Amino acid sequence: MIHCLHCHAETTNGLALCELCRRKAETILEVLPVYFRNLARWRPGRSGTSRPVPGSRVLWDGQVKSAGTGDRISDTLDETSNALITWARALVDDRPHLTRLLDRLTASRQAETVTEAQAVAWLCLGFERYLTSISTLDWCGEFVRDLSQHEERLQTLTPLVPGWYAGACRQVVGFDEDGAAVRCGAGTSVIPGLTWVTCGSCGATTYARDHLDVVLAEARGWLARPKPLAEAIVALVDTEASVPRLYDRIRQWANRGDLQPHHQIRRGYTWDFEQERMVVADEQVGHARYRMGDALDLVLRDTRSKKLTAVS
Ligand SMILES: [Zn+2]
Ligand SMILES: [Zn+2]
Repeated sequence: MIHCLHCHAETTNGLALCELCRRKAETILEVLPVYFRNLARWRPGRSGTSRPVPGSRVLWDGQVKSAGTGDRISDTLDETSNALITWARALVDDRPHLTRLLDRLTASRQAETVTEAQAVAWLCLGFERYLTSISTLDWCGEFVRDLSQHEERLQTLTPLVPGWYAGACRQVVGFDEDGAAVRCGAGTSVIPGLTWVTCGSCGATTYARDHLDVVLAEARGWLARPKPLAEAIVALVDTEASVPRLYDRIRQWANRGDLQPHHQIRRGYTWDFEQERMVVADEQVGHARYRMGDALDLVLRDTRSKKLTAVS
C-alpha cells in the first residue's frame, strides 16, 4: 500500500503523490513563474525599472541584518530561484540522464543568454514534465511542500508592485430576499505582467483583458517612458506578445510624431526684450514621456487593421 508523501492519503496510482497533490504541484509550477517574472521586473537597481517598491523595503526584521539584500522582493526571488536549482540538482542526482539539460541551463545563465525569470520558467516546465518521475522519489512530498511555500510568498508580495484599478468585483457572492444576485463589489486591480485579476476580498479570478475598459479609464493618463509603456501594454493586450517589439514601435511612433511627447515643465523666468521686463517662461526638463492612452489607441488601431486584412 502506497501513501501520498505530501498529504498521506492512500494513493491508487502507484505513485508517492496522490492525484490531488499532483494537480496542486502542476498548478504551482504553472503560476510560480508568472509571479516570479512580474516581481523580477521590480527588482531594485534593475535597468529599466529603477525605484524599489516601497512596501518591499525591509526596515528591521528583527534578525541579524547581514543576510540578504535588505529588499524583500529581491530576497524572496533569490530564495525561490535557489530552491528551484537545489531541487533540480536533487532530481539530476536521482535521474542522471537529465544532467545535460541542467548543465545547459546553468551555462546559459552564466552567459546571461537567459534571464533569471526565464530560467525559473524553464525549471518549472521541466519539473512539470518529469512530475511522474518525481512522484516516485522519496523527496516528492517535501518538494511539493517547499514549492508551495515559495509560491505563497511570491503571491503575498505580488500586490506590493504597482497595479491599476480594475473595477468592482462582479463575482456573485449570494442572493438577497428577492432573489437578486448580490455581487462582491470589492475594488480589484490589475498587476502589470499578470494576465489575470484576483479579487482580494472573495478570491474570484478573472482575465485581465476583461477589465481592459476599466483599467484604461484609470491608466489612460499615465505618463511613462517607452519601455514601461511597452511592458504594461503587453500585459494587458492579448495581441501584443513582445515587449522589445512594441518598445521599438512606440519609439517609431514618437519619432514620426504620432505620439505627442510630454515633458516635465519647470517654471522659469526670462527677460523679454520687446516688453523690456521679466516674463514667465516655462521650460521643458527631462526625457519625453508618452501617454498610455495615446500609445494604446495606436496599438489597438494596428490590431484592428491587422484583423481587417486577415478577413479580406
Ligand atoms: Zn496527496
Ligand atoms: Zn470579489
